[in-house]
Amino acid sequence: MGRKRVLRIPKIASITCRACTKVCTRKVPLDASPGYFDCDGCGVRTVVPVTACCVICAFTKKKCVPALRLEAHRLGLEVR
Ligand SMILES: [Zn+2]
Ligand SMILES: [Zn+2]
Repeated sequence: MGRKRVLRIPKIASITCRACTKVCTRKVPLDASPGYFDCDGCGVRTVVPVTACCVICAFTKKKCVPALRLEAHRLGLEVR
């Protein structure tokens, strides 16, 4: 086979508000790790815990693009 494995970059992430449990959809920034998000429903700002990378890494099943690139580099995968 010899095809290089690819790690797909997610385009959107669904983040659940801690205050009202509304699921908010956000575009995943290509070169940033978002440190907070403002809820579409109640407006409450959710801030990343100091131990976490960003709201995408902390509150969704996905990872932010910088974290994905690091992981891909470590595993020898191609990022797309
Ligand atoms: Zn909310
Ligand atoms: Zn992250």
